[in-house]
Amino acid sequence: MTVFFFLFLPAIALYFLPSILAYNKSNFGGVLLLNLFLGWTLIGWIVALIWALSGDPQQVVVVHQAAGYGGGNFCPRCGWAQAGRARFCSNCGSAI
Ligand SMILES: [Zn+2]
Repeated sequence: MTVFFFLFLPAIALYFLPSILAYNKSNFGGVLLLNLFLGWTLIGWIVALIWALSGDPQQVVVVHQAAGYGGGNFCPRCGWAQAGRARFCSNCGSAI
């Protein structure tokens, strides 16, 4: 039993390291399958590890700036928010 805990479990944990690292990522299913079926080949394990470590693609957040939103003005040239009744953009100097 001692041998089990000190040799077998760490070996299992090491074998499934790519799956453990990818647990909270969207590619977890793929990493787990690759790890499970091709992990015994060193190449398969390394590919699974690299796949697990490569992060999820960053989500693109598009923010539309509406003119006059919130009572402020936005520069028509660069979109920079302007305070009050500014006549020139404080960012690019363009006339508003
Ligand atoms: Zn501007």
